[in-house]
Amino acid sequence: MNEQEHPLYLDGNALAGPLGEIFTTDPTTAWRLCPSCRLPATMAQLHVYGPEPGLTARCPGCAAIALRVVTQPGYLWLQLGSGAGAFRFARPHITS
Ligand SMILES: [Zn+2]
Repeated sequence: MNEQEHPLYLDGNALAGPLGEIFTTDPTTAWRLCPSCRLPATMAQLHVYGPEPGLTARCPGCAAIALRVVTQPGYLWLQLGSGAGAFRFARPHITS
């Protein structure tokens, strides 16, 4: 096994599935300016680690946490940045 077969992270397109459940537009096209290193990046360009206990998306420039997503039956938790709590969204199509 090597890093190419099992990369340490996925690109931000890994967020399309869980965030696509709650956002009607493709969330991976959202643009962000990193408050830590000022690198502009779309959500698709973030480095995504996980999947357990959830997906953590980090800035590709400085690895600052951009967002975290945790899914559970019926709910999706979204934390923006590295603190200040998380939003809980209902996942109406997911009951188990
Ligand atoms: Zn950064």
